[in-house]
Amino acid sequence: MIACLDLEGVLVPEIWINVAEKTGIGALRRTTRDEPDYDKLMRGRIEILDQHGLTLRDIQAVIDGMGPLPGAAAFLAWLKSRAQVIILSDTFYQFAAPLMRQLEWPCLFCHTLEVDDGQRITGYRLRIDDGKRRAVRALRELNFHVVAAGDSYNDTTMLGAANGGILFRPPQNVIDEFPQFPVATTYAQMQAAFVELGDGSMRP
Ligand SMILES: [Mg+2]
Repeated sequence: MIACLDLEGVLVPEIWINVAEKTGIGALRRTTRDEPDYDKLMRGRIEILDQHGLTLRDIQAVIDGMGPLPGAAAFLAWLKSRAQVIILSDTFYQFAAPLMRQLEWPCLFCHTLEVDDGQRITGYRLRIDDGKRRAVRALRELNFHVVAAGDSYNDTTMLGAANGGILFRPPQNVIDEFPQFPVATTYAQMQAAFVELGDGSMRP
């Protein structure tokens, strides 16, 4: 069995929101909820960082000051002792690195930032389109039983592609729109859901 986890909102706080708060740049609070065009959103963020002279190293220093959500490290350790775990995220390796260190370097599939010699962020590269859902589909083709957990809209296709899907602390509109997925609001509830939806090999 393989457990696929979203990163932000499930194991760590929202990275851009924290960067906005810690740098005091309110414009960085915009998310896919405000700007559905992801490319436009990312190009806007890169432009804002440039205007403030913020390099990748500055942003990494902010992210380094963030920690995993309370209880996340213990939950991940619990899960890793019972299933193979892959984190499927739409963040970037360079942003996730300080948080991955604090989670003892779990397996992560995400995207890459383009950075110049002066550590200025110049662009980004999506490894593949629709990566979360396609990863789950590919794992199932390899005959794995997949249970996935995520917190928001961009996780619902991966939850649907898995043998079992779990929503963790989702917003109300996602709960209303996707009543087929069980909702967990604590890590204890999420552990119970993984046992329930697992392939029978998982112990509580
Ligand atoms: Mg998330």
